[in-house]
Amino acid sequence: MTQTNTPQYKPPYIGRFAPSPSGPLHFGSLFCALASYLDAKKNAGQWLVRIEDIDTPRIDPSMSKVILDSLRAHGLEWDDEVIYQSQRHDLYEQYLNLLNRKALLYGCSCSRKQIKQRSGFYDGHCRTRKLPFDKHALRFKHVENNTYFTDKHLGNVTISHPIATEDSVLKRADGIYAYHLVVIADDIEQGITHIVRGNDLVETTPIHLSLFDAFDSTRPQYCHMPVLSQKPNEKLSKQHHSPAIDDKLAADNIKLALFLMGFKKQDIPTHNRIDQLIFWAIENWSLNIVPLKREILISTANGVYSEFSNINEGE
Ligand code: GLU
Ligand code: ZN
Repeated sequence: MTQTNTPQYKPPYIGRFAPSPSGPLHFGSLFCALASYLDAKKNAGQWLVRIEDIDTPRIDPSMSKVILDSLRAHGLEWDDEVIYQSQRHDLYEQYLNLLNRKALLYGCSCSRKQIKQRSGFYDGHCRTRKLPFDKHALRFKHVENNTYFTDKHLGNVTISHPIATEDSVLKRADGIYAYHLVVIADDIEQGITHIVRGNDLVETTPIHLSLFDAFDSTRPQYCHMPVLSQKPNEKLSKQHHSPAIDDKLAADNIKLALFLMGFKKQDIPTHNRIDQLIFWAIENWSLNIVPLKREILISTANGVYSEFSNINEGE
């Protein structure tokens, strides 16, 4: 048999980290950012950062810079200009128009209370009511069922949560474009091929896949990482008052994140050069080492996020 030396075609890899600037970067988001960065770089990909500052009442514009400074301090450099969702309203309107042309959008006047009284999940109540679009929330007529998909980390996943098949809101009655619309519009516009994010978003993946299909766009590969929690079902987050990471302890933060990701403590370099730590982590990265768990409990006693040695006691 003759051997040809045609180089193997590898599709490009474009990954992203998409923080919402509702507070500074906490350790849980650093963990996700690092995982998506390592997976992108290990695959010779690009890593983009997008600021999801669309939900104006919840966000604090000054936090965008704080988050970006923290990423940089932790050696996570992005490959293209950062985009800000607050500056992309025209684009989101175009995406809504596309859905409208396909008759996949409708106005809804149901209040939260009414939905709660019916079943707790939206049952398509307004689908045929032909309500005007102004002053009403706009919902996606979700006709596909993508509750089964293959995750790069979790393997075959089936979502039984009712949110997976809901007609989700894409624009709220107060005019704010909703997360499900903007995240997909931007993933499509930025040509994202791989999405590494926290497991807290796994239930929304079916909606996201259906939106990719509705926009006739190629689906990215999803990869859901465990979330870090202080207590069961209490992921590190702003709501749970997780402290900001300390950029001055960047090397320790990275080492702890690598340890929690599944690297063995004795393998992680002990020095404090961020660039070398990150380089080492890219070289050695593999999803196979990441625990197949929905959440990883971490001790925050004595505020020890940064104290790599304390957290490893007893290992
Ligand atoms: N902006 C979202 C968040 O901070 C992440 C969106 C995503 O990764 O799909 O939770
Ligand atoms: Zn309704």
